[in-house]
Amino acid sequence: MRQELDEALVRDFPNLYADRKSNKVPLWWGFECGDGWEPLIRKLSAEIEAIIVAMPEKERKKFRVKQVKEKFGTLRFYMGVAHDAIHAAISRAEQESAVTCECCGKPGSMRNNGWISVLCDEHQAERQKKR
Ligand SMILES: [Zn+2]
Repeated sequence: MRQELDEALVRDFPNLYADRKSNKVPLWWGFECGDGWEPLIRKLSAEIEAIIVAMPEKERKKFRVKQVKEKFGTLRFYMGVAHDAIHAAISRAEQESAVTCECCGKPGSMRNNGWISVLCDEHQAERQKKR
């Protein structure tokens, strides 16, 4: 994901992404997915950040993101500690990523170009041209 989107997520959801600059977690590498998923990551982040902010202050630091990446075509969003409402939100976002182009965020589907990725028709055509 490009730097300005990354920085904006970390700035807007400071509890959730408090470990962004910690080299002890894979999030140190950044958000390992395409820009097209930023809106769904942003929506998910807002949901979880609101849950965290409602917690007593000493509880909050347990609920941090460890890694965000694409795996087998879809979004994976890993937290150290979570609970049911958070898991439900994460699983909705992961399902949404399966029909959202990772490049541009338009409706997409799973494509197999030697590796699996979710792309819209336009980005799939572009991918095939490059091969
Ligand atoms: Zn696209």
